Amino acid sequence: MNTEAFVALGSNLADPPRQLERAREALGRLPGTRLVAASRSLRTAPVGPPGQPHYCNAVVRLRTRLAPFALLGALLEIETAQGRVRGAQPWGPRTLDLDLLLYGNLVLDDPRLTLPHPRLHARRFVLEPLAELAPELEVPGRGRVCDLLRRLDRQGRGRPVCRL
Ligand code: ATP
Ligand code: CA
Ligand code: CA
Repeated sequence: MNTEAFVALGSNLADPPRQLERAREALGRLPGTRLVAASRSLRTAPVGPPGQPHYCNAVVRLRTRLAPFALLGALLEIETAQGRVRGAQPWGPRTLDLDLLLYGNLVLDDPRLTLPHPRLHARRFVLEPLAELAPELEVPGRGRVCDLLRRLDRQGRGRPVCRL
């Protein structure tokens, strides 16, 4: 099987653009996996505890033969290799965060792996780069990426995102 998957990349410590660059390279080297496309990187205001540096965010499109949990495990390994330390504080600063946004049309409700990513539809810093790669993509249970983004616009929600 060869499934299309989308991964969100985020960093706000230790040279964020370089962290994303290294993460893209590592994703492209995963077994049975091809990095098909990468969005531009964005500079975004932090969500979560105040006083953090700005984030660098991007999304990549993969084709992979890895099963969902194997892919998640590989993402967590790349985070660890790039110095990610999970502190007590949720959404605190990090060298690298890799979230599995979508794995084909798979819907999973497991705390270790929830698909689609449970907050993807409400996050401009995810939807903007995702829309650059796949505006017409249907997010199972949520609607098309471009419509989700338009909804944030109408609600005046989300934070401004600047291109790097
Ligand atoms: P958020 O999920 O709101 O973006 P976060 O990325 O800061 O927050 P983490 O501390 O990186 O959260 O991850 C906590 C746990 O979430 C991970 O150990 C992982 O098992 C689980 N998880 C569940 N669904 C997913 C998913 N789709 N992608 C990545 N991790 C997930
Ligand atoms: Ca995240
Ligand atoms: Ca994460």
